[in-house]
Amino acid sequence: MSAPAPFPDPHDALFSAIAARAAASDRPGGDLSADIAALHEAGWLAACLPLERGGQGWGCAQEGLAGAFAALRGLGRANLSVARLFEGHMNAVKLVMLYGSEQAQARVAHSVHAGELLGVWGADDPGHPLTLSRSGAGLVLGGAKRFASGLALVRHAVVAINGDEGPLLALAPTDNPSRADPSGWAVAGMRATQSGRYDFAGAELPADAVLGERGDYTREPHFEGGVWRYCAAHCGGAEALVALFRAALLERGRIEDPHQLDRIAACATAIESMRLWLWRAAEAVEAHDASPDAATLSLLARQVTEDNCRAVLSLVERGLGMAAHEEGTPIERIRRDLGLFLCQAQPDAKRQRAARTLVGLGLRAEDL
Ligand SMILES: Cc1cc2nc3c(=O)[nH]c(=O)nc-3n(C[C@H](O)[C@H](O)[C@H](O)COP(=O)(O)OP(=O)(O)OC[C@H]3O[C@@H](n4cnc5c(N)ncnc54)[C@H](O)[C@@H]3O)c2cc1C
Repeated sequence: MSAPAPFPDPHDALFSAIAARAAASDRPGGDLSADIAALHEAGWLAACLPLERGGQGWGCAQEGLAGAFAALRGLGRANLSVARLFEGHMNAVKLVMLYGSEQAQARVAHSVHAGELLGVWGADDPGHPLTLSRSGAGLVLGGAKRFASGLALVRHAVVAINGDEGPLLALAPTDNPSRADPSGWAVAGMRATQSGRYDFAGAELPADAVLGERGDYTREPHFEGGVWRYCAAHCGGAEALVALFRAALLERGRIEDPHQLDRIAACATAIESMRLWLWRAAEAVEAHDASPDAATLSLLARQVTEDNCRAVLSLVERGLGMAAHEEGTPIERIRRDLGLFLCQAQPDAKRQRAARTLVGLGLRAEDL
């Protein structure tokens, strides 16, 4: 069986090239450097910079919304691991531009134009949370991060130093291979992200590495509001699965079966529900005059996305049976990647937060 096109967008050379490489990097230590180089060559790393710094405002300006949305969704279709790294880069650039000093912004803009990939590493290693203390004229970090994506590719990460009065952000170098340990990333999916632990103990930072004030990181609508970005990638992954599902049914001569047609219809409504919700949330959150409450739309859209991605996974598994589990096929890889990528921080708390805002404001979702 020849591999069907993973999504109905064969003319897009960048997505097609990334999709074609996805199987090879699906292993522990998988190498995405060719994909990140391709994103740089296409101008996508720099596109995440604000317009005034030579970018297209992807993820950080209203003008860049359509581009950012299409890029994240398209990369999700092509390779969810690449989408994960690109989303982290987009988020990191946004945080530097929101909260960094003029010098920090200029430095990051320069390095991103030169092809540097950034990340956001927020999750503390249990028992070794990140700390920051003064050391002479500079700063020194302690502790470690876990679940840190792009260990071998991210040269600087925005890291969160958590505390009772909220997290403080800093831009830290992450280019010392002896500090990186991917061995704990023993998971079935998203292997190519090369995620894992990074030990910052004793790492020195310049004084202007700190971004903004304590608590800035969780300011809305940028914090929870930004979850639309990884959800757009999830939506793309689900689209790729559905395209493969349809192609597999066609190839087996089963597409006219009424049960399978029911599943195709259910997949179509699942994808379009996600897309509509995500676009609405992203438009509200990325508007110039967005209010903090716009983040609630992103939280609701996240729930819609998770529910519909899980529905698509189940429909495809039931519709194809064992073929959905056959190792070495794109369907099996994307199922594993999407299933894992859906595990993002605090899904229950996010749903509760959205519900509390609706109740507290006495609003319907359509009023937001
Ligand atoms: C592919 C991938 C890449 C990632 N890359 C990064 C990265 O670059 N940087 C980074 O910082 N993080 C990264 N993460 C981590 C991510 O942001 C989340 O922190 C992580 O996925 C959450 O893992 P978990 O499902 O084990 O969480 P858990 O918090 O254990 O959640 C599992 C379930 O428990 C519930 N739960 C959570 N807390 C409680 C509680 N106190 N009591 C009861 N129930 C609770 C949750 O709602 C959920 O239902 C990545 C994750 C993935 C999958």
